[in-house]
Amino acid sequence: MIIDFHAHIGDLRSPEDLKKSPITLENLIERLDDEGIDKAVLLPVNVSPESCKAHGFFSPPSDIVSQLEAAARYSERLILFGNLDPRMGCLGNLEPHQVDNPPKTDFSPFLKRFKEMGCVGIGEVTANLPLDDPRVINMFRQCGEWDMPVLFHCTGPGRGVYGLFDEVGLPRLEKLLKEAPDTTIIGHAPGFWAEIAGDIKPEEKFIYPKGPIEKEGSLPKLLRSCSNLYADISAGSGYNAISRDKTFGIQFLTEFQDKVLLGTDVCYGDKEGRMPHLSYLRNLLSDKLISREVFDKITGENALRILKLYKP
Ligand SMILES: [Zn+2]
Repeated sequence: MIIDFHAHIGDLRSPEDLKKSPITLENLIERLDDEGIDKAVLLPVNVSPESCKAHGFFSPPSDIVSQLEAAARYSERLILFGNLDPRMGCLGNLEPHQVDNPPKTDFSPFLKRFKEMGCVGIGEVTANLPLDDPRVINMFRQCGEWDMPVLFHCTGPGRGVYGLFDEVGLPRLEKLLKEAPDTTIIGHAPGFWAEIAGDIKPEEKFIYPKGPIEKEGSLPKLLRSCSNLYADISAGSGYNAISRDKTFGIQFLTEFQDKVLLGTDVCYGDKEGRMPHLSYLRNLLSDKLISREVFDKITGENALRILKLYKP
């Protein structure tokens, strides 16, 4: 079974790319059929303001519950995730001593509601907060208590973009993994995938660094040492990381065959916006550069194993 672990629906266009088409449920299913993908994990959007440049400006706005209710019509093809922002629920004025240590939100009403709607995980988390912010740790821990894996977008250090951020070496991610040991945590995006290589500069965590990988980075080390960390190869960032140095990429996919998840992160409805990940893996398989076992794990078996609440 082939599973795309990273799919969205909705209007993700910014004002500069209105020539592209929004993703509808119909063109998502059409893509899955064309590419020979059995199922996709649907990650609802529009929970954090950072990730939507023009939400509701060029198409009717869509909230998370509407996206999930619409997607539930395709329950044989779509695996539903809920989505949360770690800043949710912190109502009222804080006392001065609470500013650095805000009260802990109880996410259980949201998690219960998502579970009732058939959701089996949470993501993608895009709030622009440090990866080890107390609100992030609190939310991730609670998702683990509900057996819901969490997928997050990772960016480089400092505020101003979108996604949870970290410094070179992923020290904050390491802290989060240790503080939420019972939560399955799935990383993706430039701030995560740049760390496949060692000795990187902070600015490389915002781009797709090219060229051969001379020295392994913090990502392989964390995948080895933290059993709750998984890696989603979706988007340009994941594809670049596994293909920029083909030999290194094959070794990486083989060593972490139990931890890597196929995803695409297609953001538009047009055929031109489709992603190369699955055909790249299919080519590695047909050229005998990865085994059938590695291919099957990465393209579906790992997903089914970590999605404890999912009943196909
Ligand atoms: Zn995405």
